[in-house]
Order: sequence, then C-alpha cells, then structure tokens
Amino acid sequence: MTTVTVWNEYRHERADDAARDVYPDGIHETIAEFLEDRGFDVRTATLDEPEHGLTEEVLDDTDVLTWWGHEAHDEVENEVVERVHEQVLSGMGLLVLHSGHFSKIFKRLMGTTCDLKWRDEGEKERLWTVEPGHPIAEGVGECIEIPETEMYGERFDVPAPDALVFTSWFEGGEVFRSGCCYRRGAGRIFYFRPGHETYPIYHRPEIQRVVTNATAWASPVEISEPSFGNVPEPPESE
Ligand code: ZN
Repeated sequence: MTTVTVWNEYRHERADDAARDVYPDGIHETIAEFLEDRGFDVRTATLDEPEHGLTEEVLDDTDVLTWWGHEAHDEVENEVVERVHEQVLSGMGLLVLHSGHFSKIFKRLMGTTCDLKWRDEGEKERLWTVEPGHPIAEGVGECIEIPETEMYGERFDVPAPDALVFTSWFEGGEVFRSGCCYRRGAGRIFYFRPGHETYPIYHRPEIQRVVTNATAWASPVEISEPSFGNVPEPPESE
C-alpha cells in the first residue's frame, strides 16, 4: 500500500477566520481524509511539530509527500529541506500544491525562482486538460471549472515540465501552467496549482480526483540501483 505523508504549514487555518471556516481542522486533514478514503495509507505532518513532523523515520516510511505552505516558507529548517531533497532524489514522490510553488524544497528542486503573477479577487478558473492520456488526467474530463479562486498567471518561472497536464484560464485573461510533471533523480514531482486557503477547492470531487491520481502517479517504482564512477574494464560483448 502506498504510504502518503500530507504536510501542511497549518498557520492560516489557526489564525484567519476565513480559512478556518473552509478548513476547520486544517487543509492537511481534508486532503488526508479523501486520500484515505481512496485507499492510501496516510499520515499528516505540520510545520510546528518537532522537525516539522518530517523526521528521518517518517520520510523513510513515505512513498509520496504532499506539500502545502504559504506564509512561513522561511521557517522550514534547511536541514529538513535537505532531507526531503535527498528522499526525492532516491525515489520519494512529491506533490507541491498551490502556494507551495515558493517553498524551499520546490525552488531547490527546480533551480529557478518559481515566481508568478497573482490576484485574489475570487475569479473564475477553467482548468483545461491538455494531456488527456496522462494518468493524472484519468477520469477528469476536458475541463474543471472552479467558480471562485485566486488567480496565478504566467510567467511562471519554472523549467519546462516533462509533461504539462493542465493549463488554466482565468476570468481576467491570464493563463497558467497548472499541472506540471517533473523527474529529479528517481523521484517524480507534480506541481498542482488550485488550492487557496479561503476557497473550498480541496472539497471539490474533481480536484480530489486529480490529487488522488497524482499521488498514485508519483508513487515510487522499482528501479535497479545505478552504479557510478570508474569502470576498469568494458563489459564483455556477446
Ligand atoms: Zn493562495
């Protein structure tokens, strides 16, 4: 069974009424609940726990880590970021959600600023499936409409993704690469845009479907350990 650790900064939902109304137990509990319902073995971890809840032991037992953060990216200890980075390179899947685009771990893995445009006016978003054959798009349909959301617009300063699964259109005219797949080392990374803390976006079944598909896609696959360094003799030819 795939083991998932749902990580959340968990600050907005404790401090802001608007966020608490939508996610009374925190965004992590909402995500953990629907992933559990779909058969994943799920635990949660939050910023204010010791080592942010991401000890060696927890990460060693995590197939896929999901990451939601916003206002406290700088409070994530570099040592923990290193630890997560190493795990991704050795095969752990990582889902970076919404404002997680500015997290230390995502910036480290991308090597770019990961900056973007934004505007929070409750605009409509249409999230178009541009790669319908991709496993993350399975059962999603041509388009997801989110009636009210925060806008993110291009330029999104990330490397060109290995696969772009969703592209968003916003009422104000901006567009955004909302579903981006990457590989770093043996690990699979998916960036998924929707999910501002004051809109009930993770309660929407079609969004839950994408997160579920992405969790399955990012799960580690068996690979043979590569060898490195000097090879004194070429392999025998047959
Ligand atoms: Zn936001």
